[in-house]
Amino acid sequence: MTRPNILFIMSDDHAAHALGCYGSRINRTPQIDRIATGGMRFDNCFCTNSICTPSRATILAGTYSHVNGVTTLDTPMDNRLQTFPKLLRQAGYQTAIVGKWHLGQGPEHWPTGFDYWNILPGQGRYHDPVMIEQEREQVVSGYATDRITDISRQWLQDRDPDRPFLLMCHHKAPHRPWEPSVAYAQLYRDEEIPYPATFDDDYRGRAGAAAAAMMRIERDLIAEDVKVVPPDSTAPNARLIPPQGERSSLTPIVGGAIEFDSPAERKRWLYQRYIKDYLRCVASVNDGVGRLLDFLEEEGIVEETVVVYTSDQGFFLGDHGWYDKRFMYEESLRMPFVIRYPREIEPGSVHEGMILNVDFPETFLDLAGVEAPADMQGRSFRPLLQGERPADWREALYYRYWMHGAHHNVWAHYGLRTHRHKLIYYYADPLGTAGSVGEPEEPEWELFDLSADPGELRNLYHDPAYSALAADLTAELHRLQQEVGDVPYVGG
Ligand code: CA
Repeated sequence: MTRPNILFIMSDDHAAHALGCYGSRINRTPQIDRIATGGMRFDNCFCTNSICTPSRATILAGTYSHVNGVTTLDTPMDNRLQTFPKLLRQAGYQTAIVGKWHLGQGPEHWPTGFDYWNILPGQGRYHDPVMIEQEREQVVSGYATDRITDISRQWLQDRDPDRPFLLMCHHKAPHRPWEPSVAYAQLYRDEEIPYPATFDDDYRGRAGAAAAAMMRIERDLIAEDVKVVPPDSTAPNARLIPPQGERSSLTPIVGGAIEFDSPAERKRWLYQRYIKDYLRCVASVNDGVGRLLDFLEEEGIVEETVVVYTSDQGFFLGDHGWYDKRFMYEESLRMPFVIRYPREIEPGSVHEGMILNVDFPETFLDLAGVEAPADMQGRSFRPLLQGERPADWREALYYRYWMHGAHHNVWAHYGLRTHRHKLIYYYADPLGTAGSVGEPEEPEWELFDLSADPGELRNLYHDPAYSALAADLTAELHRLQQEVGDVPYVGG
């Protein structure tokens, strides 16, 4: 049997709860859902460090952040690292990456292991983006999501049909500042998008980290995010801190001033502005996925092609009153992951097994019949694709977010998640990024029962009834931490 092609489509910050196939209450994604309908949806796929650059390095190298060295946005990937595209290429695959890279630029950081690469610098722009095609910079006119799809399709068209391929199509959408295409600028215009259950979270009953985070819809969005005229024109990137008092107003870039009678009304308006643009960006990604799936059908290569749709991490869609990610809380930790491979996967299947981004490389190598290096740290979930759940499959994951403070003042933390519980340790990193606000003076712990409290609103760590459980989970956290080669934080 011929080796499978691998079409890996990844977007940026697309949370699972904004996908139709995951039961979204706020939008539809019929094209992406074709992958789930024709294949498998994983309901427990998680990242090991919920932020762009580190997750991308893990997805390529199959190692945790502390091993590959890409712990934060400021640690670009050394392109000499072993990665699964390099191994597939050595095995005869033709390989390409198109779109967002975000693992650094220059001779030590350009993509390696690809026959063809055409990437955005850094985050890239939504409209008329600059793209770097194998070190040659050019402006590509049009909307980034559409152009990334076009370039991907063209590469598929031009490939050698006699050899298998790996194509990594990496959308920049729906990353902040959520600029939709002209085609979708009016989508949802006359609708009110539903609010999440924890929209009015007051951050009580948890460690100090949640209240300290600066990713609140009502306060931390900037004018560019929601396309309003900056209230203070001298600081266009200032946060939209609500003015004192009940009444306030904001002026959309298009249209007249909006008056608000209460802070709650203002917050709901800001959420609608944010979430509609986010979902409009998703709509273009959905179209792009459809066009690549159509291509596979036109070429008659559906059977022998593995298609994946995922995102580098999750995102808060107004959950806890937030946008952004980073936290080990569910909406940010969870990754959407749907995969179609008619040769091995039963259409319309769902798996509850816990898979991680660190598993992706070994799974793709396994599907391609290429041996994975012993120092990759994940595990192939190919048996899960076939509907199995091996007896020794993982029941818990280890997570670590390193980027203490920084843009959104999220405190560094590590933790453990089982199918039922979550333990988080904010370790009060005094070496963290300068300029963070209200740093924790003492380490803090959180423990959640995800069955009883799926919104993660009640920290049980200090409840005596849970002390034995907390001790067990702490032991398991340290065991897993040691297993992956990380070490407990002991202060600086
Ligand atoms: Ca991201």
